[in-house]
Amino acid sequence: MTGSVVIAGLGPGTDAMVTPEVNQALESATDVVGYIPYVRRIAPREGLTLHESDNRVELDRARHALEMAVSGKKVVVVSSGDPGVFAMASAVFEAVEDGPVEWRNLSIQVLPGITAMLAAAAAAGAPLGHDFCAINLSDNLKPWPLIEKRLRLAAEGDFAMGFYNPRSKARPEGFARVLEVLGEVCEPERLIIFARAVSTPEQKIRVVPLAEATPDMADMRTVVLVGSSRTRLIRRDGAPYVYTPRSVPE
Ligand code: SAH
Repeated sequence: MTGSVVIAGLGPGTDAMVTPEVNQALESATDVVGYIPYVRRIAPREGLTLHESDNRVELDRARHALEMAVSGKKVVVVSSGDPGVFAMASAVFEAVEDGPVEWRNLSIQVLPGITAMLAAAAAAGAPLGHDFCAINLSDNLKPWPLIEKRLRLAAEGDFAMGFYNPRSKARPEGFARVLEVLGEVCEPERLIIFARAVSTPEQKIRVVPLAEATPDMADMRTVVLVGSSRTRLIRRDGAPYVYTPRSVPE
């Protein structure tokens, strides 16, 4: 049997946002590999082995998947959201580049998913309707000064922004510093969206001006969207719509 690796995005939470091609790949898999909470989203069935691993061992997990594929397994590596956004797809290619030649001759396919930032934006309205960027605020894999530099330049460039991994127990001070930097560049009315557990029963969307944003509004299940200077709020009964106009006048 010829083995293969599929790196699949499971979307932000609800099964309704798993794409049909990802479901198909899961149906024909012999092995599923991934971080514990993501693997737990896969229904067990006969002929399928579920391999749960800890969060910080991405490269080991990638190598394990590649080894199983070489031995003929149909392996699906799962990520939440999109596998190419701060997730497993890059880890697999990093392992392939440094690994034995038979790894690069395997069939490796990346199946996209709905990333947290886009699911959150849709839940709030259309805050990413103009130019935007995504920043991972975790300093596990890069130095903190680089995060601050990119944040400041993106804010100066007036991009809307999406922040992944905004706040962890290990790094409670990081997000407070992010709000400080934003305060130095942006006006106090700048709209900030805290979108937690998007598309799950615990979903909570909170919209506040920058002046009222506090570090405790974010946790590791939150993606934070920062509007550009043009982003606006439509007030109504119930949750407001937040959107960024398509154009910037000359
Ligand atoms: N590959 C994933 C991101 C992994 S990084 C994706 O494309 O979405 C993990 C971070 O994603 C979390 O700390 C959080 O910031 C964000 N995230 C993932 N799922 C989320 C959800 N359902 N709601 C809000 N944020 C989410």
